[in-house]
Amino acid sequence: MAIPSNEQEEKELQEELDRAQRELTILYNISNAMRTTLELNHILYIILTGVTSHSGLGFNRACLFLINKRERCLECKIVIGPDSGEQADKIWKYIKNANQDLEDLISADRIAYSTSQSGLFESLRALKIPLANDGTLLTSAYMNGSPLHIRKGMIDRYANDPLLQVFKTNELVIMPLKAKDKVNGLIIADNLFTQKPITSDDLRIFMMLANQAGLAIENSQLYEMVVHKSHTDSLTNLWNHGFFQHTLALELAKTRETNSALSLLIIDIDNFKQINDTYGHQNGDIILLELATILKDSSRDVDYVCRYGGEEFSMILTQTAREQAFLIAERIRERIAHHQFPKQPLFHNLTVTVSIGLATFPTDAQSQIELIARADKAMYIAKFAGKNRTSVCDAESS
Ligand code: GH3
Ligand code: MG
Ligand code: MG
Repeated sequence: MAIPSNEQEEKELQEELDRAQRELTILYNISNAMRTTLELNHILYIILTGVTSHSGLGFNRACLFLINKRERCLECKIVIGPDSGEQADKIWKYIKNANQDLEDLISADRIAYSTSQSGLFESLRALKIPLANDGTLLTSAYMNGSPLHIRKGMIDRYANDPLLQVFKTNELVIMPLKAKDKVNGLIIADNLFTQKPITSDDLRIFMMLANQAGLAIENSQLYEMVVHKSHTDSLTNLWNHGFFQHTLALELAKTRETNSALSLLIIDIDNFKQINDTYGHQNGDIILLELATILKDSSRDVDYVCRYGGEEFSMILTQTAREQAFLIAERIRERIAHHQFPKQPLFHNLTVTVSIGLATFPTDAQSQIELIARADKAMYIAKFAGKNRTSVCDAESS
């Protein structure tokens, strides 16, 4: 029996209202979650959880690319979604049984799990898309700044696209993220496992989410930039004294917990006053910057290179006992002593040397203050012994 038209209209209206309410709830929940943090990785995780969870937009998979301004390319930062159909079934069953809603899913402790387990993430991360007007799917969406929906029948035309070589699917949407009308990222989403077609309703709410997401990303990037700036020294780009003290405290706590060793180097330029007097302060600054670059180049990812003060640097060598630290210090010292300053003809034949003081926790010191004092004292021992050398300050020499 056909429903009378006013009843039909009422039903449609009710459905429309339900949908609007559902969409508002989703957007409200996601924007609330985004306001709880300024940390970029967490923001990205919240956004993609909103795109993929059943209580959110419900896409099967989503990945998020951000613009790397320095390298002028798009790079994948996070992927959420199963790698295969079986994994999808497992995850969805788990979520259903655990009765998890959006709020549970976006709790921070799940970030590491979901991002580090994905094989797809590994392949997408290797894909760096240059920001050129080359007609590829991602750059087109970036240049046009509008969503790109590739429907089922059309996907074969793009079989050679770099994205589709890795993100194999039969229908997808690429949604640009914007802040102040500038695209700062892209989300790619699909329904590979359920094969549910992507509707215009899906696109509409996705666009609303993208508008908020783009702004949240920009805020977080600005915040991280300010935090980074407040920790760095503006002349050398090394970590500054405040960050050095803060990090040393954290690293010493870790060293205590793991019963390992940490070494500290205090590096002071020899006769720098004379160098300033000969070449002028501005050229002295250039030398400082060049030495900072050598120190950075000589360090491992786990080390911290800092500007301790005027012409003094410090290096925190994590998980490094005294003997190994001594070899590292000597390698740095020799590298500096043999360094040529080619950029300025003025510096032709200039040799700069440094004196290095070394102290190790827990071998030489039991506390942060004591460790710095011992490394500093060791540096003065090196100066008194004739400069251009590395010295250790152990219990006997103090
Ligand atoms: P020593 O071998 O005993 O360390 O002698 P030195 O001349 O290096 O030591 P001293 O402490 O007498 O002088 C350090 C000089 O470093 C004095 C200061 O003008 C210079 N200096 C400190 N910070 C800066 C800086 O940011 N730029 C420049 N150009 N010079 C700096
Ligand atoms: Mg000094
Ligand atoms: Mg000096």
